Amino acid sequence: MAALLFLHAHPDDECILTGATLAKASTAGVRTIVVYGTRGDAGETSADLGTETLGERRVREAEAACADLGVARVEWLDYADSGMAGTETTKNPEAFSNARPATVAAELVNLLADEDVLAVIGYDANGTYGHPDHKQVHAVAHAVAALIGAGWVLDATYNREHLALLPDADGSLDRQFAAGEAELTHFVQGEPWFERKLDALMHHQSQVPDDWDQDNPDREGFRARFGTEWFITEAVVDGAELGLLSELLEPKSAWQSPTVA
Ligand SMILES: [Zn+2]
Repeated sequence: MAALLFLHAHPDDECILTGATLAKASTAGVRTIVVYGTRGDAGETSADLGTETLGERRVREAEAACADLGVARVEWLDYADSGMAGTETTKNPEAFSNARPATVAAELVNLLADEDVLAVIGYDANGTYGHPDHKQVHAVAHAVAALIGAGWVLDATYNREHLALLPDADGSLDRQFAAGEAELTHFVQGEPWFERKLDALMHHQSQVPDDWDQDNPDREGFRARFGTEWFITEAVVDGAELGLLSELLEPKSAWQSPTVA
């Protein structure tokens, strides 16, 4: 059975960047696999972890989120979270971002030898916002696609111009952030998947900001920013057909910006 392989850097990235896509694919009967590079152990938290490490807690949170999204298989690579660019943890030789992409790709080939992977979903070249582990996901996704027999690589990203037009945008959006509309090729419409995406995200309780009102979350703000999921889709072999992907992805030409009348 053809499968989609989602590579993610940390727990919660699966929801934020691809939650609607995972829900849509699994609902359509497409097998989905999520592989995490790290357990997110360098993240910050104000949660009471009890006897757990942050990484252990985040594994449980991610597995609950993936179950909600209908993910068929979840795997964990054994790398450490690199933390944000410029921090001490990026120097850890065990950090995900310090592995050679070819080494990680070879690990994935072994791990997924019994899978028929149709497409690999990673992130854009800047990892949307420059996090070293996210940039590594981009490198690994592009390194592994041909080795694993996938026809397509999808860079999950955001639509920078759309974000800049939102009512609460304050003009501070980094010009390197994610992707501009000219680079984007496809999207997954947030509706009707948004509620499942947000519910799945709520499993990541260790990452919920203290100022987030759990009983009254800013659903509309989150929907406007992260509801629709954007991709830069690239064929591994010239002339490849989208096949099954054409049932999941809409071409950018079908995008109607809700902020432009
Ligand atoms: Zn991340």
